[in-house]
Amino acid sequence: MSAVLTVDSISRAFGGVYAVRDVGLTVAAGETRGVIGPNGAGKSTLFNLISGHLAADHGTIRYRPNGEERRIDRLSAHARARLGIAIVFQSARLFHGMTALENVMVGAHARTRHGFLAAALRLPRHRREEAGIKADALAALDRVGLRDWAGRPADALPLGQQRSLQLARALCAQPHLLLLDEPASGLRAGEREALAQLIESLRADGLTMMLIEHDVTFVSRLADRVSVLDLGRLIAEGTPEQVRADASVVAAYLGR
Ligand code: ADP
Ligand code: MG
Repeated sequence: MSAVLTVDSISRAFGGVYAVRDVGLTVAAGETRGVIGPNGAGKSTLFNLISGHLAADHGTIRYRPNGEERRIDRLSAHARARLGIAIVFQSARLFHGMTALENVMVGAHARTRHGFLAAALRLPRHRREEAGIKADALAALDRVGLRDWAGRPADALPLGQQRSLQLARALCAQPHLLLLDEPASGLRAGEREALAQLIESLRADGLTMMLIEHDVTFVSRLADRVSVLDLGRLIAEGTPEQVRADASVVAAYLGR
């Protein structure tokens, strides 16, 4: 199976301390890749390096959504979003004062040429595209179970639904690679189950995903393979069963 993402010896330091050090990994098309590791292991930093929200000090990132592979490590986050890389951040990043629907429509503009401002100004040639985006946004809201919230202010949503809203925004961009940073954290049991089922349905659709998750049982259920980070380094990788049986993983993570 072909690789959608190839990360090669990527490193990033803050104030001389490596957050991510010499990490390499390959994510196959259609794969769900779990990423686990203790707090501060570098998981979120790795995702930000892939999405372009942080620049790497060293290393390369290659991406092949379909067709030709290209280097993306020098591209801006916006350019990578346009190529189909979507990220759902660990902490809620919503546009306050906007409805749930508007928040999701921002996601779709990640893949359009003129962006959100032109749409907000309602330039005539954008109106038809805008109608299509609205339909996509409503479909994305429906998919995460938030269809009834479309017209309500995003701020009014409970935490679990704010996560779902961010996920809807990412899906509305029709990504080829979806990065989910601890999407289940802070969710109640019922919400976690709904999220797990949604991720399973995305996986069934063939979407390539990376999933940072604290709960090893949760990630084992969803991931084809799991990468384990500790102190910025990749210390193990394999199927959920292989990783759970790995002595270094148990020592670094599961045993703590
Ligand atoms: P994880 O997501 O695995 O908990 P992070 O990637 O958030 O870990 O952080 C890895 C390390 O990098 C931590 O020691 C953290 O304090 C540090 N770090 C992350 N982002 C920054 C930043 N913007 N500035 C300084 N240090 C950072
Ligand atoms: Mg993190």
